[in-house]
Amino acid sequence: MRIIMLGAPGAGKGTISTILEKEFAIPQISTGDILRGEVKAGSPIGKKAEEYMKAGGLVPDEVIMECVRARLTRDDCRNGFILDGFPRTNSQAESLKALLADMGMALSAVINLEAPEELLLRRLTSRRTCSNSSCQAIYNIHTKPAKKDGICDLCGSPIIQRDDETEEVIKKRLDIYRENTLPLLEYYGKEPIFFSIPCIEAVETVDEIKRKLQKG
Ligand code: AMP
Repeated sequence: MRIIMLGAPGAGKGTISTILEKEFAIPQISTGDILRGEVKAGSPIGKKAEEYMKAGGLVPDEVIMECVRARLTRDDCRNGFILDGFPRTNSQAESLKALLADMGMALSAVINLEAPEELLLRRLTSRRTCSNSSCQAIYNIHTKPAKKDGICDLCGSPIIQRDDETEEVIKKRLDIYRENTLPLLEYYGKEPIFFSIPCIEAVETVDEIKRKLQKG
């Protein structure tokens, strides 16, 4: 199963992908998580990406494609993967198409998650993330607080608010989404493997995705 998860920041791509990862035993590949790990490690890729990320802008395609190529050619992707936060532009979609063709792979589904703008804003400003780059568990101060205040339930590391989840940067990320990523709905929309569903309650959304994947 090779899945692309589309949707605005805060639409639920990370949450849904984490559930599907367990259900289908295929890795969730989040370019945002990969980049945050590189920034934390102070690697050359991290150094190139950091400023763009802090400002809520898009990291250049060549940096992203280097990360994606390295990740997709790893062994654990042989049975499939869930792409979360990639592609984000039509040119990334074109590069992905070429990469998959090279690898002799085809996509199984492109899923767009829908959520109203006020819900996106509410989710993003109340989101907290585990600071451990190999964990990155997601919490929400209202709906999914950690058991012990400020400490990750899974790994015990501190939980933080991401630099790019302040209200000002979030508004910028939503503008960038509308301008650069929304056109992907046109790009993939005509393909039979594309579908778009609301993501208000994660459990219902996952059930609906499983139903649609079984039918397809
Ligand atoms: P995310 O966790 O997916 O919201 O990503 C956090 C940040 O990482 C984004 O705001 C971008 O700066 C950068 N980023 C992640 N994925 C991509 C991508 N596919 N293309 C460009 N920039 C990306």
